[in-house]
Amino acid sequence: MESIISQSYEVHFGELAKAALKQHIAKSGYSKVFVLVDENTKKYCLPFFKKEIMAHPIDSVFEIASGEENKNISTCTKVWEMLSNFDGDRKSLLINLGGGVLTDLGGFVASTFKRGIDFINIPTTLLSIVDASVGGKTGVDLGVLKNQIGVINQPVMVLVFTEFLKTLEPRQRVSGYAEMLKHGLISDMEYWNQLKETSSFTEPDSIQKSIAIKNKVVLQDPTEKGLRKILNFGHTLGHAIESYCLENPEKKTLLHGEAIAVGMILEGYLSHELKGLSKLSLDEIKTTFLQYFEAVHFSDDDVDAILKLLKFDKKNTHGDVNFVLLQSIGEAVSDIKVPEELFQKAFAYYRE
Ligand code: NAD
Repeated sequence: MESIISQSYEVHFGELAKAALKQHIAKSGYSKVFVLVDENTKKYCLPFFKKEIMAHPIDSVFEIASGEENKNISTCTKVWEMLSNFDGDRKSLLINLGGGVLTDLGGFVASTFKRGIDFINIPTTLLSIVDASVGGKTGVDLGVLKNQIGVINQPVMVLVFTEFLKTLEPRQRVSGYAEMLKHGLISDMEYWNQLKETSSFTEPDSIQKSIAIKNKVVLQDPTEKGLRKILNFGHTLGHAIESYCLENPEKKTLLHGEAIAVGMILEGYLSHELKGLSKLSLDEIKTTFLQYFEAVHFSDDDVDAILKLLKFDKKNTHGDVNFVLLQSIGEAVSDIKVPEELFQKAFAYYRE
């Protein structure tokens, strides 16, 4: 499969990825090569990585605990300490082998250790392959508040091996599908139509298409001054819902993709009310997501608490919450203010 070129790095697939890694390490003169894993990628991905992908010796493998609840500064401290204890210096390389939690955290740790060392992302979940590992957003949560601490800093390369998806739990695969559907909704109606009908979303062609859509947006606006914001469709309410479920033990924890699937239905409703998204398209969005993602129950108290969390959204300016909405399927607009009364209506539409 053809590589995808981003501003300072490339996304390579399969055999090409293997060759690119070998060539890059051979020419870079790294003092140390470290690999970051969690307990699952250590078990399911590290053996394949060592046997089939990595030709160069590894100095140390660092393990962190998996899960969004560990995407925080105290896990970063542990990795910074491991880097330091194992003689990491500015010419060290960190290879992030894992899902979006690990690539976000590992990217941030590498970007800040000794003011920045090289890192390579080798994403192992569908979500991290099609979205999280590409685009250079790195960071961690602050308490339950999503991605509040971080920097935008690009990896040296992103290497995609779809073999890793074989051991991924079905629920995790579907979570990644949400971000792929988002790519269609914000920029490509044809892709949305094709993807919403198929259960073969882990096909290499779909994966490549999703990465290409994200990359095209990021290339035009790497630091999210304007266009890049459209990648946040569904994420304003989605992140608030994800945080709310994380901090409430009585609520079922939602995976990132599950939370933004709800967010996309709600923000689809706001798009219909404010930006002319047709009722037909809105219903199509809702039906599609509810076909793949179990409906979540929200009480009135839940909704009130979720809406309070909106004030922490990273896109807010001057105290205003800024939304990305759809004018039609395939066409998104950003920086839209939403009158408060519409939020309750959006949840009412979701519950219908
Ligand atoms: P995750 O990283 O938590 O991985 C999901 C689970 O699968 C974990 O338990 C992990 O250990 C396990 N796992 C990983 N690879 C496996 C494999 N091959 N086989 C078996 N198990 C495996 O979750 P995720 O969905 O990959 O990522 C979600 C995170 O990504 C969120 O924190 C979200 O905020 C972030 N994100 C970042 C961006 C970005 O642009 N940086 C974009 C979207 C999402």
